[in-house]
Amino acid sequence: MAESTRVRVRFAPSPTGPLHIGGVRTALYNYLFAKNMGGDMILRIEDTDSKRFVPGAEGYIIESLSWLGIKFDEGVSYGGQYGPYRQSERRAIYKQYVDELIAKGKAYYAFDTPSELESKHTQSPNFQYDARTRGEMVNSLTLPAEEVAARLARGDAYTVRFKIDPDETIEINDMIRGQVFYKSDVLDDKVLYKSADQLPTYHLANVVDDHLMKVSHVIRGEEWLPSTPLHILLYRAFGWQDTMPRFAHLPLLLKPDGKGKLSKRDGDRLNFPVFPMEWKDPVTGDISRGYRESGYFPEAVINFLALLGWNPGTEQEIFTMDELIAQFSFARCSKAGAKFDYEKGKWFNHQYMLLADDRRLAEMLLPDLAARGIKTDLDYVTRVIALVKGRMNFLHEFWENASYFFQAPEQYDEKTVAKRWKEESPRQMNELCEILEGDDFSDPVAMEAKAKAWCEANEYGMGVPMNAFRLAIVGEGKGPHIFDIVTLIGKAETLARLRRCVKVLG
Ligand code: GLU
Repeated sequence: MAESTRVRVRFAPSPTGPLHIGGVRTALYNYLFAKNMGGDMILRIEDTDSKRFVPGAEGYIIESLSWLGIKFDEGVSYGGQYGPYRQSERRAIYKQYVDELIAKGKAYYAFDTPSELESKHTQSPNFQYDARTRGEMVNSLTLPAEEVAARLARGDAYTVRFKIDPDETIEINDMIRGQVFYKSDVLDDKVLYKSADQLPTYHLANVVDDHLMKVSHVIRGEEWLPSTPLHILLYRAFGWQDTMPRFAHLPLLLKPDGKGKLSKRDGDRLNFPVFPMEWKDPVTGDISRGYRESGYFPEAVINFLALLGWNPGTEQEIFTMDELIAQFSFARCSKAGAKFDYEKGKWFNHQYMLLADDRRLAEMLLPDLAARGIKTDLDYVTRVIALVKGRMNFLHEFWENASYFFQAPEQYDEKTVAKRWKEESPRQMNELCEILEGDDFSDPVAMEAKAKAWCEANEYGMGVPMNAFRLAIVGEGKGPHIFDIVTLIGKAETLARLRRCVKVLG
């Protein structure tokens, strides 16, 4: 593929706080598209708004995406030949392009003070700085040239505004939404540069960087759609129409219940994370929950997010990253917002638990078991997790589902006792002890057959003795197959638990 037509996408977050889960989806769709097309993925940090800069946010973004397996070819912390990739390090570059627009008559200096602008807005609340009003304002279009030169020489504060021509129709040929038309009349003469901080605004820096970094496709959230006509006009003003990127605006992530955009408050209210990793606010110290710390597998988060706005057109729900890359296309992305079904997120985690290698899960569980003072080994935990993972969505649910594999129940659940421990139970459990004495505990199926034969011979029925057996071993009525449990905990432990139960419950 020729260099000029190579697919190059960028994820361009502003480090204004933790990356929202919607931002993660934007990064993911960029990644899936780029890799599907054999192209490059760039990480650009858009930190030109120093007032909104939050320390730690950039590192958080990089760590989150790396945890999720979204990889970059170029960018902040990755390097590359189009750097620097942090906009605050590109000041000199932008200034040059601002000057170019002014020289071409596509932009102008504006000297209106904040209070002048404010009083305009008070006079007419719908005030817009544009072709109809710029003639009444203090700018290089209304002031004599010498006056402008004098003000600049003096170091007066100014902004540079984009001169938008009225009566133009701007067409966006969006890869998801199709044709979208805007009238240039609705746009205002956007500020492109501020002398106060010697920095460009988002629009100018974004367009200049996409051009210089040879970005071929701009894939971003729907909330940026209103900026796109302005960006298209900027491309034209620079004369870059031939290399203008294609645009795709991703649908909003919606509240799980009701209408509107998913917010952090929905997460607090309905108890699910909206950030990939835990975030501690550097000012307030407030902690926001993250998917990582809540026990999600990164693969599950990816799978979940991939299907919020895209569908494969088949019944398939479980996808590896490589499968997503192979199947992704904008043709299968929806325009409509995607409801954030966090219960489905848990379901995905459960599916990944079932698919995961038991030994790998056991390795992840060992530190917590050690912290509880449990002496065990990897083989044993591997066999236990294989038995109980069908009941778990998260690894942190292991102990509540499996403690009885490591220690005898300390007490017996009252309700279960009332329901399951019958008058005949002590006698039956004593008999069961005798039968199990003669078994080597190597084969749960053979053990069960023996128990069955014993029940049949004595006309006990299976229910009453087996329920009492479970109560003695687990302490309540839950758990996987009882003979699978006792094969794991072994003969001595099983008999001890049976005898203790008979003694305690009588
Ligand atoms: N800096 C913008 C953001 O924070 C980038 C939007 C875009 O991708 O153009 O999302």
